[in-house]
This record gives sequence, structure tokens and C-alpha cells, in this order.
Amino acid sequence: MRVEIIPCLQDNYSYLIIDDSNNSACVVDPSETKPVINFLKNKNINLKYILNTHHHFDHIGGNKDLKKKYGSIVLGFKNDSERIPEIDVLLEDNQIWKAENFTAKIMHIPGHTTGHICFHFFENKLIFTGDTLFSLGCGKIFEGTYEEMFNSLNKIKSLPNETKIYCGHEYTLNNSKFCIKHDPNNLNLKNKIENIKKQVKDGLPTIPSTIKDELDCNIFLRTNDLESFSKLRDLKDNF
Ligand code: ZN
Ligand code: FE
Repeated sequence: MRVEIIPCLQDNYSYLIIDDSNNSACVVDPSETKPVINFLKNKNINLKYILNTHHHFDHIGGNKDLKKKYGSIVLGFKNDSERIPEIDVLLEDNQIWKAENFTAKIMHIPGHTTGHICFHFFENKLIFTGDTLFSLGCGKIFEGTYEEMFNSLNKIKSLPNETKIYCGHEYTLNNSKFCIKHDPNNLNLKNKIENIKKQVKDGLPTIPSTIKDELDCNIFLRTNDLESFSKLRDLKDNF
């Protein structure tokens, strides 16, 4: 199983999870159609599944046309069945989704939206976190409560350290400025920022991160109480 990063729109990432043993693939959060088609073009890969973390336009924009072109099956959270275009499979919290050689646990992680989920490919140690956990940041709370977001991040925190994190946006460098401001003596963070700067300079994605890196460096995972988390989230909104 390999993951290909597909940059979309301004700073979104869609991801292709490709199983080379049978040339089948899932796409996570196709913001738009074109970059996904461009990648698949001339390759013998069948886009079997479209996985949506939440209903925002920059995560579902490609659903309709990709489904039409490849006959893909669209998956999303059951409570968002009215908001996720072309949805076929209604997922539930804690469900294990299995198809072909793909296996993922669905985790309901409300906060950014009420119906946000992530896809934990636990056999492959990969997680697709949409707009809930970013590298060195977390999503804005649009529909949920601070407490929901805090609990959702805590769920992700408990996954194995080596789990690779694939998030919905390239916000890492900007996020790092907020982290270092509030955590100025964190050596792990300083080292990570050096790496991030190199990657950005070379035009490379800063993704994937890992649970370990985020536990060490992400200020939103390093706060252990709801009150200081909420305060930080407010500060970040005006940063
Ligand atoms: Zn979003
Ligand atoms: Fe987004």
C-alpha cells in the first residue's frame, strides 16, 4: 500500500492510497477532479473508492465527476449523508471498513464540523485526519464545541507513535510560527521547523507527519486541559 500526495486548489491535499497488488486505489478528500485524473492518466489504476472526511467543498469537490468517470463508490459519515454529494456508503463511528485489501477504522472526530471523521488504516499505520489534526495545528471549530475538538484530538493522540498523519492542508510552516511563539524552548519543535523550512524551500510537502512528531511539537496536543486548549484555539483564530 502506498500513498501519493495530490496537491489541489491553493493548499489542499488529496491522497491516493494505491494497492499495487491489484491496481486499485482510494482517494481521500478529492478537492477537485483534474489533479486526480492527471495523476491516474496513463496508469493502470482503478479508482475504486472516494473517502470523505467531511462535507466542506474543498474536500468533496471532485466526488461527482470522479464517480462518473471511474464508477467509484463514495464513502462518508452517516449523519452527513445529506451534505456529502453522491454518497453511497454511510459510515459509523468505530466501524471497520474493509474492501479489497483496504482496511480502515472510522473514527468520529467532531469539532471542525459535527460530522467529521478520520480514516485510520491501522494495518498500514496511516491516518487521514482531514481538517481536524494538521501538522503543528488543529482545525478551526466551525460547528462543534471546544470540548468536542479537544476530545477528538485526544482520540487521535492515543494512536501508535509511528502512525503517519496525512492531513487536509499544507499549513505546517504557518502553524509552526504559532507553536514556537507559545513553546519557545521546545528543542524538538525547533528541529522540526528546520526540516519544514527545507521542505518548503524545495517545494516539497511537509506531509506526512507522525503521531510522535505531533505529540512532541504540536502545541494543541501538548496542552492537557480543556481550558488552556480553548484559550490557544481562540488565540490562533486571531494569529
Ligand atoms: Zn474543512
Ligand atoms: Fe479544508
